[in-house]
This record gives sequence, C-alpha cells and structure tokens, in this order.
Amino acid sequence: MKIGIIGGGASGMIAAISAARQEADVTILEGGDRIGRKILVTGNGKCNFTNHMMDNTCFRSNTIADISPFLEKFGVEDTLAFFTSLQMLYKDRNGYYYPASEQASTVLDVLRFELEAHKEQINVLTGCKARTVTYQKDGTVKVVCGTEHFIFDRVILACGSKASPKTGSDGSGYQLLRSLKCGCHIEEVVPALVQLRCKEDYLKAVSGVRIEGQVTLILDGSVVCREQGEIQLTDYGVSGIPVFQISRFASYGCANSQDVRVQFDFMPGMNKEKFEAYMMERRNLLCDRKMEQFCAGLLNKKVCTLFCKMAGISMEDRVGNVPDKAFGRFVSLFKEWTLRVDKPNGFDMAQICAGGLSMQEINAHFAMKKCPSVYVVGELLDVDGICGGYNLQWAWTSGYLAGQYAALD
Ligand SMILES: Cc1cc2nc3c(=O)[nH]c(=O)nc-3n(C[C@H](O)[C@H](O)[C@H](O)COP(=O)(O)OP(=O)(O)OC[C@H]3O[C@@H](n4cnc5c(N)ncnc54)[C@H](O)[C@@H]3O)c2cc1C
Repeated sequence: MKIGIIGGGASGMIAAISAARQEADVTILEGGDRIGRKILVTGNGKCNFTNHMMDNTCFRSNTIADISPFLEKFGVEDTLAFFTSLQMLYKDRNGYYYPASEQASTVLDVLRFELEAHKEQINVLTGCKARTVTYQKDGTVKVVCGTEHFIFDRVILACGSKASPKTGSDGSGYQLLRSLKCGCHIEEVVPALVQLRCKEDYLKAVSGVRIEGQVTLILDGSVVCREQGEIQLTDYGVSGIPVFQISRFASYGCANSQDVRVQFDFMPGMNKEKFEAYMMERRNLLCDRKMEQFCAGLLNKKVCTLFCKMAGISMEDRVGNVPDKAFGRFVSLFKEWTLRVDKPNGFDMAQICAGGLSMQEINAHFAMKKCPSVYVVGELLDVDGICGGYNLQWAWTSGYLAGQYAALD
C-alpha cells in the first residue's frame, strides 16, 4: 500500500510510523525545510504532550458531540505506551505529561529517530509543498507539489491549521481540501487558545499584572462559560490560561458580530454578599485612613488604584468620606469587572484554531466519506482541545489511527 502523508507535523509523523508498522510504503511530503517545527514551541519549549485527565469535556467541536470513541481506540495510555516504545522517559506533573528531559526537542527527536528506523518504508521529502490533491476515478490520489506529482493509494492530510504559521501550518490544508472538489464542508476557522483584545483604553495602567481569579464569557448578555486561574492583564487586553480556555467561544462571538464581554471575579473565594459584608466591615475599621492605606493588603495595588479611579474615588480620599454610592461601585468591581472584547489576537499569536473540516465529512477511520482514499487528521479537523496537552493528544489519536487504517483498509 502506497501512502502519501501531507505534512510532517505531530499527526503526520505518528501516522507515518503507525502505517509503516503495518507494512505500508510511506512518503511524507513536508512543505517546510524540516519536519515537526511546531512541536519545538509547544508547552513553552517543554512539550506538554498529553494529560492524565482525558475525556470528551476536554475537547470542543462544532460538528461532533463526542470524540470519546476515538480516544477509546488510542488514548492517554496508548500515547504513553507509544512514546515508551520510542524509549522516551516522561514525567507526570499533576497529570500533565512532559518528556523527562523537559525539552520539546526530545519528542521531535524520538519521532525522527523512529522514522529513520523505518527508512526502508518511510521516505521524508522536505521543501515539498502540496498544491492540489485530486481523487482519481480508480480511487488513487494525485498530489501536485510544484512541478512534481505523486500518485498514492491513500493520502493522509496532516497539514495542521493556520495557527502559528511561522511553524509551517499556513492554512494551505484548507485549500487542499477544496482542491478535492468534493464539496466538503469546512467549519469557519478562528484563532483559539489566544489572547483577547479589549476596547477599554485604560488597560495600560494595569499592564503586566498577573492575578488569580475567575473569568466569565458573556455573549449578547448570556453567560457562555467560566474559567479560573491566573489572569494576565496586558496593555491591549487579557491573557493567561483561563482566558485561553474561553477564547475559542469569544473568537466565534467576534466573528459573528456578537457583543462579547469578559467579566472578572478577583475574589472567587467569597460570594458577593460575603465580600460586600467584609468590605463594609473593613470600611468601618479603617474609616480614618486614606484609600491608599485601605487598599493595602486587599489586591494588587495597580488594580486597586484603577478600580478607585473607575469608581470616582481618589487614593487620597479618607475612607469615611467616600460616598456610599462610589464605595459600592468600587466594591462591585472586584467581583464584576467587565471588559468589552474587540477581537482575539490573530492566527500568528494563536496556539491553535477552532473549526476545520466538519467531523461529519469523515468516517470512524478518519477517511473522507466523499473521497474514501483521503484521510484527514490533527488540527485540520473541526476538533480543538483545551490547554493541557489535549491538542497534541488529538494529533496522536487521529494520526495513529488514520495511519493504521489507511494501511489496512
Ligand atoms: C506556541 C504553541 C504552544 C503549544 N503548546 C502545546 C502543548 O503544550 N500541548 C499541546 O497539546 N498542544 C500544544 N500546541 C498545539 C499543538 O502544537 C498542535 O495542535 C499540533 O501540533 C497540531 O498537529 P498537526 O499535526 O495537526 O499540525 P502541525 O503540527 O502544525 O503540522 C502540520 C505540518 O504540515 C506542514 N504543511 C502544511 N501545509 C502543507 C502543504 N500544503 N504541503 C506540505 N506540508 C504542509 C507544515 O509545515 C507542518 O509541518 C501548541 C501550539 C503552539 C503554536
């Protein structure tokens, strides 16, 4: 069986290894000058390659409700066993798995060495960017790269999305899908796991602040989701893992011209009534002090100063002299500070994309229903994971299974 794999990223490499283990003859066509570039930047250079906590709730999609049947066939234990078979030691940090070296390059190295170990069966061609893919009448697939063309029995599209295009994934996978001319549906592609830009112009005052809290996403006045963790405030908007987790929904909201807001609760340990009662007690206790002193020990100084300003209070004001209404506004900001989202940062800043080829277009073997010799894997599909090793897990799951099925189907 001659299998062509377009894209030598995470999903393409594992697909090649899995197909070769089933005796297939594999060619990887990689557009860049080297394979696996994106792996090197994952997990801040440490590569969080999977996670102990793995179920359907860790993944989002517009076109499939439950991806657990795929995870049951190749999940966390299979991923760990696979990398163990490549002699890679790993460490478990509260359920988040990293290579023991804490170097993303280790993950790429062991994959490369395994490709080399199968060099009789796996041919890696770099600098070979696929331009079109044609499903031929006899069921074979023609791939055109510049002036060259290749004919394969099966092709696996593993081109990634258009997030972080400097690593090679420039969105050409969507064009390849269109070049098949089978009318397949591609769900709108938006940046995800990305920072959000906000309309407020006063954010410079709190730029650089990192603060524990809860963020709630509100679209057209309705609460969509909520996440907790370290929030990072920047001069243009908000960042940090909880913001990343909600960002795909915010991106779709912006793309659909909805009113997108993020609301912060910087006192998630106390409910509103309890916090208000605490602040009234503090106000009584410290009524002779200046607001500057009142704020000390409450929360980050820059944030307190901003909240005072927003409530119309000067840091020089005596606590006892602050009018009730202004004090009430000040208190409410700690639990309900709301920013209007303008747009997400672009694809260049996004870790992943949401959207992609509809999951309704593929069968249980990752083959396209309309072109059964063409398989689609990884981020090119309409599945996106939350932060924590889930996007690579999807690359390993889809890539491994598609490689095996393409060799055996
Ligand atoms: C900064 C950053 C940090 C991340 N950290 C993590 C993390 O810690 N854990 C995690 O799980 N996920 C993480 N991710 C996400 C994860 O890296 C991706 O989801 C995953 O790599 C996707 O794998 P893929 O094989 O689908 O695509 P890619 O890895 O993007 O590979 C696609 C390959 O296809 C090639 N290609 C594209 N078009 C063509 C063409 N027309 N012809 C030939 N070749 C082509 C590209 O050059 C590329 O090599 C991170 C992403 C970024 C950007």
